[in-house]
Amino acid sequence: MNKHHLRFRQIHLDFHTSPDIPGIGSEFNKEHWQKTLKDAHINSITIFAKCHHGLSYFPTKVGIPHPYLTCNLLDEQYKACKEIDVNAPIYVSAGIDMAILDKHPEWRYVNPGLEWWEQNKKDFAPDGLRGICFNGKYLDYLCKQIEEVVELYPNCDGIFLDIISLKECVCPTCVKWMKDHNLDVTKHEDRMKCAEHVLEEYYRRTTEACKKTNPDMPVFHNSGHVDKHDMRIINNYFSHLELESLPTGGWGYDHFPISAKFAKYTGFDFLGMTGKFHTTWGEFGGYKTPEALKFECMQMLAFGSKCSIGDQLHPRGKFDETTYKLIGEAYKEVEAKEAWCDNVENVADICLLSQESISGVRDQDTAAGRILLEGGYLFDLVDKNADFDKYKLLILADTIRVDEELKTKIDSYLAQGGKLILSGDAGLWADKDEFAFNIGAKNLGMNKFQPDYIQAKGDMALDFYTGPQVMYKQARLVELTDGTSLADIWDPYFNKNWKHFCSHQHAPYDKINGYPGVVLNKDKNILYFAHQIFELYGTYAEIIYKKLAKKAIDLMLPSRAVKTNMPSAGRVTLTEQKEENRYVLHLLYANKSLRGEQKEFNPKDENFVWNPNKVEVIEELMPIQNVCVEIDVPKEIKSITIEPEGKEIAFTKEGNKIKFTIPEFTCHIMPVLHY
Ligand SMILES: [Zn+2]
Repeated sequence: MNKHHLRFRQIHLDFHTSPDIPGIGSEFNKEHWQKTLKDAHINSITIFAKCHHGLSYFPTKVGIPHPYLTCNLLDEQYKACKEIDVNAPIYVSAGIDMAILDKHPEWRYVNPGLEWWEQNKKDFAPDGLRGICFNGKYLDYLCKQIEEVVELYPNCDGIFLDIISLKECVCPTCVKWMKDHNLDVTKHEDRMKCAEHVLEEYYRRTTEACKKTNPDMPVFHNSGHVDKHDMRIINNYFSHLELESLPTGGWGYDHFPISAKFAKYTGFDFLGMTGKFHTTWGEFGGYKTPEALKFECMQMLAFGSKCSIGDQLHPRGKFDETTYKLIGEAYKEVEAKEAWCDNVENVADICLLSQESISGVRDQDTAAGRILLEGGYLFDLVDKNADFDKYKLLILADTIRVDEELKTKIDSYLAQGGKLILSGDAGLWADKDEFAFNIGAKNLGMNKFQPDYIQAKGDMALDFYTGPQVMYKQARLVELTDGTSLADIWDPYFNKNWKHFCSHQHAPYDKINGYPGVVLNKDKNILYFAHQIFELYGTYAEIIYKKLAKKAIDLMLPSRAVKTNMPSAGRVTLTEQKEENRYVLHLLYANKSLRGEQKEFNPKDENFVWNPNKVEVIEELMPIQNVCVEIDVPKEIKSITIEPEGKEIAFTKEGNKIKFTIPEFTCHIMPVLHY
């Protein structure tokens, strides 16, 4: 599918509006709308044709207009945008449509995992939103709605389709389809076959409908997370990517950067979508701080992304003043910086093979990604189709087993000098517990002790932490062949069980068990961790686990394109604008703080409010001082300027390396290296 180039300063303007609220659009005013957009530096806004309530905001002939629509709101918004050169992609709710379910309850999605009474309870819970199945007549209805929108607005800037996911369904249509195709409705695998067929049909037909009047119409299908599992779907049916990721709305602050590392790798232009909300979508009168929003937007720029901020318009159609002051603060800075952030390539030393791209499981990507982000390493998150030869180091974290195809590819990468880090089960054959590579040891199985302990030595020894370190998930036991041991494993006296226990937790370390915790096969450029070191850090956040992983990375990485003394809460990225003959370094820093409590605020069995939870907030941005930067890139750097100020800074040269110091910055700074 054709690739779409996105604007930098976007709004995703939710407008799911209850049929019980009157006066829809009654306070819409073109001049106020245009002035607000201009003042807040916005150049694209996604507006609503049809919402989750299944109601349309224009006089539709196919769907169901909102009963209290006071004007053709979609048309007024669209024309007001176009007059001032603001892009206007159009939103159509696909996977949720309440109004049509009132007419066709048989079109609803039926979850096979719930008993009928639970299903019934869930269907009528006060949060209200019910799923719909794409199988059968609803898809015809949805496609006709999309066609009506693109016929009315053939020059709109894209169609955004929402709530798309692969889900097992046992609605009457799905059950019949499974019977007709000799599938067993009681089997998960067979229900998945039906779900996959239904989803592919959804993608094919809705994308075709979006392109009915304009073959270049941009299309995005939203699932709340861009699935790395099936690039074929993305290549066939998407024109760009939108990474929905509200850091305080449940996604957390690490979801966006790790997703962005993959999105950048796909070659599609993409945006990060945060929200102005303190919690999540649908929150009226809730705000995050301008400091948090600024950090989130600067982070999007640093990761090669365009920006989108989610808001929900008041039913009467008038923008909220505080919201657009908040957005304007962030977008003013984006506007000033975007010239250095468009058409960029990510510079990466390390290639992290995504477990999600293989199995759909995200945990290892998040865990390893977190170590790389916090360590200030430059990396890409990739699938098996990547050109590994571009990278100095390849990491297969914890659970990535290997088939013939991947083995051949990695062998050729290693043969040309590439380095490889494996941990836990990574590097074992997919179908047997033997290593696919010569890691310098052979697999004997799992340690019977959990937890066990690791004690690093030699090149892996940690400066401060010298004693045996508890590892909550046990090691694989491997027997050295031609490798070198860089850590010992200690066993405890016993596992805690009915026979015995010690103190509040586990038994103390007893003795070194003779099997290595880390094996280096120097000749083959492979380092192996016997523990699942990445997941251990991702779940326990024990800093020593990260120090061990970083020690291994530093040992295997021959050189780093960027090295700084930024703290772990800092973020470092390097991009290249080849056409401009420059590298753009991004240094980011924000002090996040985990606050709030998980509590039940609702009356029993009801769901009136969003229950509070622990949330990371950014209240103020603290300056950071004396950041030392070391750059080692193939191109000859002629000068360095801080942009957008244009201020030239001094640097020194030592061999291939360039060194300079940033005396102080707050939140984000962009040193540009000209070659
Ligand atoms: Zn169904």
